[in-house]
Amino acid sequence: MFIWMIFVEIFNKSGTHIVLKKHHILIDPLANHESDIVLISHGHSDHVNIQAFKKLSQPIYLSRPTLEILNERAKTEIKKKNIHIIKNGDRFKFNGITIQAFNAGHCIGSLQFKIRYNQEVIIYTGDFCVETRIGMQKGSILKGKNAVLITDATYSAREYDFPPRMKLYKKILKWIESVFQEQNHSTAVIFARKLGTAQELTGLINNSTLNCELWVHPSIYYHNLIHTRYYPLGNFQYRKNLFDSSLDDFLFPKGSQCKRNKVVLLPIFMYNRKYLPQIKRVFGREAIAICTGWALTEHFSVRSFALSSHADYKNIQKYKIESGAKELLYF
Ligand SMILES: [Zn+2]
Repeated sequence: MFIWMIFVEIFNKSGTHIVLKKHHILIDPLANHESDIVLISHGHSDHVNIQAFKKLSQPIYLSRPTLEILNERAKTEIKKKNIHIIKNGDRFKFNGITIQAFNAGHCIGSLQFKIRYNQEVIIYTGDFCVETRIGMQKGSILKGKNAVLITDATYSAREYDFPPRMKLYKKILKWIESVFQEQNHSTAVIFARKLGTAQELTGLINNSTLNCELWVHPSIYYHNLIHTRYYPLGNFQYRKNLFDSSLDDFLFPKGSQCKRNKVVLLPIFMYNRKYLPQIKRVFGREAIAICTGWALTEHFSVRSFALSSHADYKNIQKYKIESGAKELLYF
């Protein structure tokens, strides 16, 4: 991506760079580049590199949940004097440039930015979701007549047309119920991204009539804890890594005589050749599902649902039209 307007230069280089009349804004840094300020949209590792983040010396703007996620990723509390905490609606100025932050609806703490300088408007959505979701506020479509819209390309191809969320919710809950009742399993296993979809599933299951226990992998547990400081998700229990020591801890937790059915949430990074065969052996292939937008184009050997924290093709196009942007760029 590379664009020139009279005073504006936009390019990608380990992050998105916007240079407005020599004033340099770096968004979502994956390397320690020089700039005047840094904006961070959310805590996923493809939007902020933790080592680069530690080294940045210019003012950094991000939300509190995102900082908490970065602390979690860094395994320590990152203390930097150049960190500025912002939230939905906050507006600040530097060198005549106005920057305003808004919820992006992608995961806890995710922000999008509207940048204004004279007549120029640039909207950077980060990863976003404008659909109503359980446990999270949806992202809004920012308006900017003739703006340049910089957005997420993950599911920008036409074939990514996700079903309505409410339909997906019903399908997922029905599938869990069928695992418990028709297939006679006491455990349903669902893979989902540890930050974003896993919190949505936690809220969905707790708001359902399933009346089951919910056990989550540690990587999901910590994100759920951060999330619940801002929005309630209901109950979830910590279970250590399935294969750290013994599966027994997952299957027969010590001190628990509970005979209730359960849903186990696992991070998508465990959906691989190392773990999947073992998980299938223990729980049964028919009791396993995965939630990801890739469900529409990839073949999974388990049940799959196109539940994603990203916008699909139609919502990216809708955003462009409703925002009034004249140009669409992908970061
Ligand atoms: Zn993301």
